[in-house]
Amino acid sequence: MTVLTGKQYIESLKEISPEIYVRGERIDDVATHPLLRQTVNHIASGYDLALEPEMRDRMIMRSPISGEEIPRLLMHIQQEKEDLTVKAELTREISAQRICTGCGSNMLSVTWAMIYDIDAAHGTDYLSRYKDFIIKLHKTGVPFAWCMMDPKGDRSLSPSQQPNPTDLRIVERKPGGIVVSGAKLHTTLGPGAHHVVVVPCRALGEADKDYAVSFALPIDTKGIKMIARPSPGPSRDVSMESPLSSRFLGVEALTIFDNVFVPEENIFMCGEWEQAVNLSMYFACLHRQSKCACSAGHCDLFAGAAALAADVNGLGMHVSHIRDKITQIIMNGETGYGCSLGAAVNAQQHPSGVWMPDPLIANAGLNTIRSNVGKHLEHLHDIAGGLIATMPTEADWNNLELRKYIEPALKGNPKYTTEERLRALNLVQDLAASRTTGTLLAFTVNAAGSPVTNEIVVSRMYDLEKRISYAKEIASIQK
Ligand SMILES: Cc1cc2nc3c(=O)[nH]c(=O)nc-3n(C[C@H](O)[C@H](O)[C@H](O)COP(=O)(O)OP(=O)(O)OC[C@H]3O[C@@H](n4cnc5c(N)ncnc54)[C@H](O)[C@@H]3O)c2cc1C
Repeated sequence: MTVLTGKQYIESLKEISPEIYVRGERIDDVATHPLLRQTVNHIASGYDLALEPEMRDRMIMRSPISGEEIPRLLMHIQQEKEDLTVKAELTREISAQRICTGCGSNMLSVTWAMIYDIDAAHGTDYLSRYKDFIIKLHKTGVPFAWCMMDPKGDRSLSPSQQPNPTDLRIVERKPGGIVVSGAKLHTTLGPGAHHVVVVPCRALGEADKDYAVSFALPIDTKGIKMIARPSPGPSRDVSMESPLSSRFLGVEALTIFDNVFVPEENIFMCGEWEQAVNLSMYFACLHRQSKCACSAGHCDLFAGAAALAADVNGLGMHVSHIRDKITQIIMNGETGYGCSLGAAVNAQQHPSGVWMPDPLIANAGLNTIRSNVGKHLEHLHDIAGGLIATMPTEADWNNLELRKYIEPALKGNPKYTTEERLRALNLVQDLAASRTTGTLLAFTVNAAGSPVTNEIVVSRMYDLEKRISYAKEIASIQK
């Protein structure tokens, strides 16, 4: 199968009937519902972007696993070292234009590696089932959603210690399969997917073995329900406001599994609690290497928007405080991108063939870049001015009686019309003073794991003893 076009993807949604709820109501037609418009468009436009002539060579590749042409960032199992650098380059470029690339390839790759470990340790044959699923995915080309994060309840307790367990778990083992119940949180782009891929989210003990479960299922399997928020962008038609979020950015969903039967051939882990921690570790390498490049793309987006806002206001890089602030944003982006590339250069190949970026560089880089993003949003407010929070709306501009007052009052640099200035400021508003701002911050701070998880990886893996020995040698301390 060749890669789907955006239109073919939207048509494919008619073939499934998932149980999706938004604002308390069941959605009949995901493809056309106004509250899911940006989610569907985000996925559709991702397919179209991959097919654009200048992107095609890098975005589309033939999978060595299935022999099919696939969108690299969505479906590839990363078994060549070069995959990591190509991914970093594309992720930065696309995130700078539409915030989120869709990074399913990371999820499929870390799951591949974990399943390999399970088979090696237990003599099972889950990887051949998983490979069959990957081939099916590649042949049909339809998207999947990643269900890793459990609700976790009381964070001080393990899953099996919870008084009222809600984490996804096996509730029954029966001939031909298992029955699972519980929930997964934050399922990005879930309502627009065809399949769910489920994995454990943390290290588990023997008592938690029923929580050690991984499988894939069609999204419209009986008992799977998604409760989604509306997309952050406006549901009404706009041409000037929310220029990014009116077209892009999806929703996250709370995914419920209400006594769902999983047939044997769809199960990739079933009680092997010892390997649950491996998935978290691989995720900390591969996905955080991507997140460094993704956040670098966001810095590019902030830098461009800030410079444009300064220009429409009649200022620019010749003004020292504006130059300093934009340069800070640029330097943070370059740091993140450098860490993404550095982690790729130092990658190690896992026995399953998947390349794992250097965890120290990826986690240190992500922690650094994400900690500066709040400051960049402050810079956007500072450089663009208060209008990004207070300017009249697009409806006011479209009222010609009001426009005759707005036009002269909001004129800035004579090089631009008032409408062009408002368009630039609306972009900054979308980024720094809107519901999208919250989504962007959520992506920055929590997606790919909270900042302390970066610190845990770095402090555990850094060879401090070696550096203490250097210090002792320099200080001539013998013991
Ligand atoms: C926009 C967005 C998209 C996402 N997309 C997906 C997706 O597609 N699929 C998916 O599976 N997940 C997804 N996630 C989930 C994401 O990985 C989690 O939000 C993240 O790992 C943090 O987990 P949490 O939200 O449960 O917060 P918590 O884990 O509750 O963290 C809150 C705070 O508590 C601290 N904490 C938690 N437990 C402990 C403990 N035992 N001891 C000490 N401190 C603790 C954390 O470090 C943090 O500071 C997404 C998240 C966001 C925000």
